Amino acid sequence: MTCAPLATELKAPNGLIWEQPQGLFINNEFVSAGSGRLLATVNPYTEHEICSVHVAGAGDVDKAVSSARRALKDPSWAMLSGTDRGHLMTRLADLVDQHRGTLASIETLDNGKPYSVSLGFDVPHFSEVLRYYAGYADKNFGKVIDVGPEKMAYTLKQPVGVCGQIIPWNYPLDMAAWKLGPALCCGNTVVLKLAEQTPLSMLYVAKLIREAGFPPGVINIINGYGAEAGAALVRHPDVDKIAFTGSTATGKDIMRMAAATMKAITLETGGKSPLIVFDDADLEQAVRWAHAGIMENQGQVCTATSRLLVQSGVYDKFLDAFTAYVEKASIVGDPFDPTTFQGPQVTRAQRDRVMSYISGARESGATVFHPSDKLPSRGFFAPPTVLTGLQRSAPAFQDEIFGPCAVVTRFDTESEALAVANDTRYGLAGAVFTRDLSRAHRMARDLEAGMVWVNSSNDSDVRVPFGGVKESGLGRELGEEGLRGYYNIKAVHVNLSSR
Ligand code: ADP
Repeated sequence: MTCAPLATELKAPNGLIWEQPQGLFINNEFVSAGSGRLLATVNPYTEHEICSVHVAGAGDVDKAVSSARRALKDPSWAMLSGTDRGHLMTRLADLVDQHRGTLASIETLDNGKPYSVSLGFDVPHFSEVLRYYAGYADKNFGKVIDVGPEKMAYTLKQPVGVCGQIIPWNYPLDMAAWKLGPALCCGNTVVLKLAEQTPLSMLYVAKLIREAGFPPGVINIINGYGAEAGAALVRHPDVDKIAFTGSTATGKDIMRMAAATMKAITLETGGKSPLIVFDDADLEQAVRWAHAGIMENQGQVCTATSRLLVQSGVYDKFLDAFTAYVEKASIVGDPFDPTTFQGPQVTRAQRDRVMSYISGARESGATVFHPSDKLPSRGFFAPPTVLTGLQRSAPAFQDEIFGPCAVVTRFDTESEALAVANDTRYGLAGAVFTRDLSRAHRMARDLEAGMVWVNSSNDSDVRVPFGGVKESGLGRELGEEGLRGYYNIKAVHVNLSSR
């Protein structure tokens, strides 16, 4: 299917039809890219083009940044009270809820995740995040500081300014919400660069942003390639802050580029998170969470608990139960089929990357378990996979595979478990399964990670900070902590004496 330049009608397999924007969203208008180039976005299940979208070049990025800069000082945004900013955000959340079916269909077509998940999680989580930060918009203010009777001092929390936000393809709607929520709450303006693999859902949200009544230029949304549009945004001298979610390698590039104008940065990057099962764990519970922790979202989750560390006393029992559970629960197929648990990987390149880790592991002598060799005849599918017998230095054990692929290893003591868990350049998350309270809290303290789950995995909550240490990132999103990257503190000193 080829598309008209700025919008086209699309239809999902569930019968829903909508007008899909394809342009760049700058100053509340959909416009053609000055670059004149288009990019085809592909349905990972059918392997066919869904439609094309406009690709921003450096000139388009410049226009989007200028629009955000103008809006930052425009009274229609700058003079709004926090309460009114919150109302705008709530209105957008209401519109997203009203368009839930359409947005879920777009997300599934473009990303490949099951429709049941897009509808039941991704879309509602977008509005949940916006409402959460809308609530903070009039409750996030400075302090008066007691500096004695002759002086007064107070702090103002002021917007950082124009925020460049760069998001990945695994949760296109939700990664946008995590960034837009706190930025808008604090009165910033935004240029959001979508992932080139999955631009469609947020372009549809752009229509709702205009309908909600956001002033022109407050939120600009562009599609484009990372090395071109992404890098132009990071290098732009008129951008005050970059928030990024993506790979560790790109995060390092962004740090380097942002240094030129000393931009504020927050980074949420890769992970290879351990899930540790002790002999005394509730095994049935550990198996269920271990499955969700690595297999959900096709394994395309930065916090995926992809390394399973199991104590010797229960190793064989756990492995039998885990592989049986994968066999039963990882139903692979058409993402619009309500029984599907696992859809295709997002792109052919991602599928090939996952498969090359699996074949590398097999060649190095690992045992490879797949519940079934039967995958759908089309689509970028990778089989759910459990790898055992790997060296701990092997690429599949150390690297972030970003697919439905768990590695399992055995340990004897708590100190060995901790040493293996922390032997990684990443530090995003970790999970511990034990009935021993003291051990649970010791592990929570000593794991080198931004987040720890006790007797669960990948449990996320809008009210709880999310982020990593080591090469997994800088700064936090979600919760009250998530606001900190989006305001500057200004100190005001007032002399009350006549001296
Ligand atoms: P992945 O490898 O999972 O696609 P990336 O880190 O490459 O992860 O991409 C995440 C986001 O970062 C995407 O929006 C992508 O376009 C963008 N990006 C990639 N490279 C750069 C770069 N050099 N500068 C800025 N943004 C980039």
